[in-house]
Amino acid sequence: MGLNYIIECRACGSHSEYRTTINVCGVNTHLHLTDHVDTECAIRCPVCRAKLNKSEADFRQQVSISLSE
Ligand SMILES: [Zn+2]
Repeated sequence: MGLNYIIECRACGSHSEYRTTINVCGVNTHLHLTDHVDTECAIRCPVCRAKLNKSEADFRQQVSISLSE
C-alpha cells in the first residue's frame, strides 16, 4: 500500500504526481487523509521545491493524497 500525491503547485504552476510506498513524513502521514495536516514536516514541490504545507489551508489547496494498493 502506498500514497499517491497529486500536487498543484501555486509557486511554479506545475502539476505533479508521485507515489510513495514509505512514510516520507513520519508517522502522521496517514493522518493527512483525515483532518490533521502536519505543517512541521515540509512537503515540497518536486519541481521548484516550494514548501506546500506552510499552512493547513495551503496544503489543502495544493495537495491531494489518495491511498493506492
Ligand atoms: Zn512548484
